Amino acid sequence: MHIRGISRDLLDLLLSIGKEQHPHEFAGVLREEEGVIRELNLLPGTTSNEHSARLFLDMMPLDTHIAGSAHSHPNGVMIPSDADLSFFPRVGGRFHCIVGFPYEAGDWRFFSADGTPVDLEVVE
Ligand SMILES: [Zn+2]
Repeated sequence: MHIRGISRDLLDLLLSIGKEQHPHEFAGVLREEEGVIRELNLLPGTTSNEHSARLFLDMMPLDTHIAGSAHSHPNGVMIPSDADLSFFPRVGGRFHCIVGFPYEAGDWRFFSADGTPVDLEVVE
C-alpha cells in the first residue's frame, strides 16, 4: 500500500498524547486506511520502556495495515535514539513518527526504519 499522508486529526492526537504523558514517553503503532495514516494503537505501559513494547510486538497478530510507529521524546531531541533504530524494524512499516517537547504544531518528524528523515504530507 502506497502511503500518501497522515491525517491532521491523528497528528494533533499524537502531539496531545505526548503533552499528556510528559515527562513520560508514550509509544504506539500507526495504522493506515486507504493510504492515509489515521489510527494509533497505543502500546501498553506507554510510560515505561522498550522492554514492554517488545513483549507486545511479539504477541501482535500479523497486520498488513501497519504503517509504522509513533512515540514521544520528552527531552525534545528530534532524532531517533539507538534504541529507536532497533525498535522501528520490529514494528514494521516505513513511517516512524517522533513527537517532542514542547509538542507544539511543528514538533514532529517522520523517519524511515533505518532512521532517515522522510517527508510525509498532512492530509485534512
Ligand atoms: Zn525515541
